[in-house]
Amino acid sequence: MKHDFRKVIGLKVDVDTYEGMKNGVPKLLDCLNQFNIKASFFVPMGRDHTGWTVKRVFTRRGFLKKANRVGVLETYGMRTLMYGLLLPGPKIAEKNRSVLREIVEQGHEAGIHGYDHVIWHDRVKKWDEVKTSAILIRACRKYEDILGVKAHSFAAPGWMINPYALQFFENNGFLYSSDTRGVSPFLPIMGDRPINILQIPTTLPTLDEVVGIAGSEPHLLAGYFKDLLSENLNILTIHTELEGKRWLGFLMDFIRLANEQGFTFMRLTDIAQMLKGKNSIPRCKIFYGHVEGRAGEVSCQKPSDLS
Ligand SMILES: [Zn+2]
Repeated sequence: MKHDFRKVIGLKVDVDTYEGMKNGVPKLLDCLNQFNIKASFFVPMGRDHTGWTVKRVFTRRGFLKKANRVGVLETYGMRTLMYGLLLPGPKIAEKNRSVLREIVEQGHEAGIHGYDHVIWHDRVKKWDEVKTSAILIRACRKYEDILGVKAHSFAAPGWMINPYALQFFENNGFLYSSDTRGVSPFLPIMGDRPINILQIPTTLPTLDEVVGIAGSEPHLLAGYFKDLLSENLNILTIHTELEGKRWLGFLMDFIRLANEQGFTFMRLTDIAQMLKGKNSIPRCKIFYGHVEGRAGEVSCQKPSDLS
């Protein structure tokens, strides 16, 4: 598929925790401001229940291996790991209303990253239409309550999506969603039916998937990511808990290297606007698969024969 994109990086920032919203987002806003880059932030509208993921250590193959490699305790901190276990989970958007508004005021995009990140990630695959819609309505209401406008973009927590959610986005006038791992934007087929909502997949790995495998020094990792860039459209997902904290140096190195190579950064909403109405966008199936370095399933783009 040919697009008009030449050396573009769509920068997608996932906020997963209360701490990442409160402290990581302002740090990232400063950093992006320095480079004059606009990005797309996706924020969970409900509570932080990161502590519940501690249970995954015992239930999910590969989680412990990854947890050791990434340094879960240094990344999240003890307090965050207790949210939902010994401490009540704080409301991520509600308790950080000014941070959410600041994202938009500085010219970035704010989208929805589920309601409860942990519950979405673990259960969305099994939810029916009623349950899925109920959660999304709740998330959209909170978003509207804080920002005063309707949400038009969504990114699935943990890259787990179901066809009812995609249908919800189409029915509710969303511009696009970004829920999958893949190669280029497409119109999805999921649950054997075509759904008319633009899907913008993450095309690059995430830092936590390669740290300790491709290297562990920020500058080397930045070079590794630079070498992965395609000449057309790339979508990079970063996390406030990593790049907004102790891996900020990696992000700055990567931005410098990408700029040197002539790449420009864009918000996903601007990418979606450019693609709107184009009839060259392929139809692709979404399936649950696996990516290197990540425990559990993720929603993946099945490349079409047309692309
Ligand atoms: Zn997330």
